[in-house]
Amino acid sequence: MAILDCAIIGGGPAGLTAGLYTTRGGLENVVMYEKGMPGGQITNSSEIENYPGVTGEITGMDLMQPWPEQCQRFGLKHEMVEVTRVSKEGDIFKIYRGDGKVDEAHSVIIGTGSRPRRAGFKGENDFFGKGVSTCATCDGFFYKGKDVVVIGGGDTALEEALYLAKICNKVYLVHRRDTFRSAPNTVERVKNTDNIELVLNSSPEEVYGDAMGVTGLKVKNKDGEIRDIEVPGIFTFVGNDVNNQTLMQQDGSYLCDMNEQGQVIVDISMKTSCEGLWAAGDMRIAAPKQVVSAAGDGAVAALQAISYVDEKLS
Ligand code: FAD
Ligand code: NAP
Repeated sequence: MAILDCAIIGGGPAGLTAGLYTTRGGLENVVMYEKGMPGGQITNSSEIENYPGVTGEITGMDLMQPWPEQCQRFGLKHEMVEVTRVSKEGDIFKIYRGDGKVDEAHSVIIGTGSRPRRAGFKGENDFFGKGVSTCATCDGFFYKGKDVVVIGGGDTALEEALYLAKICNKVYLVHRRDTFRSAPNTVERVKNTDNIELVLNSSPEEVYGDAMGVTGLKVKNKDGEIRDIEVPGIFTFVGNDVNNQTLMQQDGSYLCDMNEQGQVIVDISMKTSCEGLWAAGDMRIAAPKQVVSAAGDGAVAALQAISYVDEKLS
């Protein structure tokens, strides 16, 4: 493969928008590497109501469905493969792929986003996929008419609790404090939903079950009292960790500067400390973690990459 003008790592809102702007802006040889279906983590969301101009009830999957096709019209190529590492030799980037191939690029825009965090209670890993889940859209239907637990007090936990309350008999919302990070109108909606019971000042202790899967969760409140909640399904929404492994070099250092949480340090142009490398979306410092801002970052990074490549190759 010829040296790419730009390699885009990740096909979420940031990567797809970078793909649209780089190709439509004149870069001819651009590949977006996405290990799964393009669209990013919002495709796991059952509802999005804050993307500008989109009104009515729409799922994350509905929102993202047209994005890849729009990019392909302008020539963006999609490689469905995981990128295991990005390195730089001289002024050329090496893109190490999960299938063993290595591509080369003049510039890189990385938008590998984040992934759901585990809450850390006993049995969580053993029962993951057997009653413990991080995706209500994917697994909620298995609990139609049954009771479930949702863990967390952020936007994701409360929005997904509302979604599950429409399918399930009852939702226990377990949160370790008595105030929420989630937007106030979402908190109000949760409080006004009859089949959501708030279990506050309580942390998950241990999930238990049998060969068929989960049968319940022990939670401990701030006075140390243990309560058994008998449910077949537990959904954890306790935040996300940044996907930055691709930037790790063989000696354990990173290709560019990161902060203590592993988020990529960028300036307002999404430029990293490594020349020719931009980072966009949820993986960057101070990310608002919204589809609209990830898309905006992707556009900003793409415009910078176009100028950089034009100057480099002229
Ligand atoms: P991501 O969406 O995480 O996309 C990154 C992509 O990179 C993924 O597709 C991943 O497969 C790919 N990838 C990762 N590593 C590699 C690799 N090594 N090689 C190849 N590909 C790789 N935001 C809102 O604005 N409104 C909402 O209502 C809203 N609701 C949400 C509900 C839920 C349940 C969740 C989880 C998030 C929600 N968000 C919402 C946040 C929003 O989804 C994110 O802010 C946004 O998706 C970030 O986009 P991104 O492109 O930075 O990363
Ligand atoms: P978050 O805002 O980080 O919230 C995580 C929640 O989980 C917090 O309430 C936290 O409790 C709790 N928690 C963390 N670790 C825990 C543990 N080990 N055990 C029990 N509880 C634990 O994560 P998020 O809700 O996934 O949201 C991530 C980002 O995406 C946010 O910026 C959010 O605004 C954004 N987002 C936006 C929308 C929207 O705009 N509609 C929708 C979804 C997500 P504490 O509160 O006590 O820390």
